[in-house]
Amino acid sequence: ADVPQGPPAILGTCPLCQKDGIDPDSIVGVGAYRDDQGKPYVLPSVRTAEGKVVSEKLNKEYAGITGVPDFTKAAAVLAYGEGSSALDRLVITQSISGTGALRIGGAFLQRFFPGAKKIYIPTPSWANHGAVFKDSGLEVEKYRYYNKDTIGLDFDGMIADIKAAPKGSAFLLHACAHNPTGVDPTVEQWKEISNAIKDGEHYAFFDMAYQGFASGDTDKDAFPVRHFVEQGHNPCLAQSFAKNMGLYGERVGAFSVVCADAAEKKRVDSQVKILVRPLYSNPPVHGARIASTILNDPALNKKWLGEVKGMADRIISMRALLKKELENLGSKHDWSHITSQIGMFAYTGLTPQQMDKLATEHSVYATKDGRISVAGITSGNVKRLAAAIHAVKP
Ligand code: PMP
Repeated sequence: ADVPQGPPAILGTCPLCQKDGIDPDSIVGVGAYRDDQGKPYVLPSVRTAEGKVVSEKLNKEYAGITGVPDFTKAAAVLAYGEGSSALDRLVITQSISGTGALRIGGAFLQRFFPGAKKIYIPTPSWANHGAVFKDSGLEVEKYRYYNKDTIGLDFDGMIADIKAAPKGSAFLLHACAHNPTGVDPTVEQWKEISNAIKDGEHYAFFDMAYQGFASGDTDKDAFPVRHFVEQGHNPCLAQSFAKNMGLYGERVGAFSVVCADAAEKKRVDSQVKILVRPLYSNPPVHGARIASTILNDPALNKKWLGEVKGMADRIISMRALLKKELENLGSKHDWSHITSQIGMFAYTGLTPQQMDKLATEHSVYATKDGRISVAGITSGNVKRLAAAIHAVKP
């Protein structure tokens, strides 16, 4: 009886556009890929894999606590790379997509991280990071990441904050396609970040929710994770297959911990199982079987990689088109950040007031922080979007 009313939790739905009777699928606020007709996209490789899984008439028994082994093995190779030194000393568990992986990771740090039960996340970060880690019992601190004056990376601020943190702190790093800014460090900057983390004896926790989505190349997007391993870090990692396989509702992901050696791996593995068992006992099998089929069948894997590139390329071409349309309208602002940013989102630099105007005067719905989902832009709606942006920021 005493449960208080909470604020609305947002996921994919948009109260304002529902009120206006707008199809939520046609907006640029939702963090999900749309095809050029603005429709949800089921990857052909996923359709094929699902057909195979169904035709095998497998039983519906429980998976083990850590999930479907063929899936987790292949997920590890996808992230760390074939032949990576991490693979033999890796603890990995299937998770309820990327969010579930972060939540297991949060709970693992809460239980075993030496020193302060605290994690540093970038400013800004994916809206759910703070809540996931707080609910895991960690204190959440921020490090500088985005410079709103340059609409780019605050690299000096980021390095300074890593250096200023107490020795042995935990840092959450977006491996690629930073959400919400679309601003990623360069390869050279990642090398410096790795050095700064090492100098501080800090711990890296990677969130890789968009592998393949940033550049269209899953190896290239995994560079930071692989570089850290090569440099002797033993990071942990949350992986999601929501975006790169379009398996949003199937909830397919993995949480892994790179350990120092086999003995450490054995201990960590036992504790991950102890942690997962009372959380949800064991993960669902269907989505993992689909992902596993794609990752383990060479022909299907090749087809999937082509589809990932197709999605990334469509997003990249929509960035260019939006910028061009704004320029065609005579906008004098510098919109180069739209094409230099990476991944699903563009951080437009529009103010909350301008975003309000976009919604109320132009029925263009996105989040107040100025983030628009480029994956929701189509050749059919880009002109209208550009005109609306130009009207609120002439
Ligand atoms: N991390 C980041 C940075 C994200 O953007 C998302 C999805 N929006 C996730 C994790 C987790 O998504 P999911 O649980 O659907 O895999």
